[in-house]
Amino acid sequence: MTGELVDGWGRTHRDLRISLTDRCSLRCTYCMPADGVPWLSTSEMLTTDELLRLVRIATGLGIREVRLTGGEPLLRPDIVDTVARIADIDTADGPLDVSLTTNGLRLAGLAAPLRDAGLARVNISLDTLRRTRFIELTRRDKLAEVLAGIEAACAAGYAPIKLNTLLMRGVNEDEVVDLVDFAIDRGLQLRFIEHMPLDAGHTWNRSQMVTAEEILTTLSARFDLVPQGHDGAAPAETFAISGTDATVGVIASVTRPFCGACDRVRLTSDGQLRNCLFAHEESDLRSLMRSGADDARLAQAMIACIARKRPGHGIDDPAFVQPRRPMSAIGG
Ligand code: SF4
Repeated sequence: MTGELVDGWGRTHRDLRISLTDRCSLRCTYCMPADGVPWLSTSEMLTTDELLRLVRIATGLGIREVRLTGGEPLLRPDIVDTVARIADIDTADGPLDVSLTTNGLRLAGLAAPLRDAGLARVNISLDTLRRTRFIELTRRDKLAEVLAGIEAACAAGYAPIKLNTLLMRGVNEDEVVDLVDFAIDRGLQLRFIEHMPLDAGHTWNRSQMVTAEEILTTLSARFDLVPQGHDGAAPAETFAISGTDATVGVIASVTRPFCGACDRVRLTSDGQLRNCLFAHEESDLRSLMRSGADDARLAQAMIACIARKRPGHGIDDPAFVQPRRPMSAIGG
């Protein structure tokens, strides 16, 4: 089955984000309640063979990048084998580009084997450098493991290594400069993320969000920033930091949306295709597959899903409604 994943606004989709599991080893306050959320059962989740089949079909429709997310993807027991099998998929333009976003807790032991398996890039979440604040934010005393994971990723030779920092007003915005210094000292690329309405508790409030404008004002007081714009469809707006080889990025989904160039489509761990992070409808590829559909039928479903994509997330629309599925079960 040939064809492409083009929506009604002319956007061609090349980037498939896959949530490998909805489970996580942290309980970040901006993401889920302390007790977690009802997890998907194993039977609901795609098997690795089912996952690989869908990725192969998607590459036939033009997907060239795969980003593995969660929950926490490194919790998946066969993660190294899964990465190896996905990285082994050849496309008309060469091997798939495989990357991963992690909270870093298991990275110290997995960075090297994942690299050998074909993982090209890794993004690591880091919202604070302070142990007490890390415990408050994640409800786990695991900052040391994350820092060890970052060191292991550096040692394994990933480049670039990106750090993702979600800022919350009155919580961690006083660490903006320290986090950038931390990244500069290690040759890492730090990106600040505006808090989006995707939490499991549906408690998001715009006033909690630290805006791109505020972040850049704080940074400009300390660093000389040189704008570099967006790299193609990449969500981050980046700035070179004069006098260093470093860049810093801002992912301003709420105040500076980048939907116009969006090339991302998402597959959940239970086999639902989402044409947008904020989509309200999903395409049930799992049931289709388990009911015996052939590859052409599955490809058709993917194409139809993308064709229905809205122009943007609509967060500023007074009628905006937060999606039912939380970020922890969609993936970044
Ligand atoms: S909000 Fe939706 S349309 Fe906008 S960039 Fe994200 S995934 Fe794409």
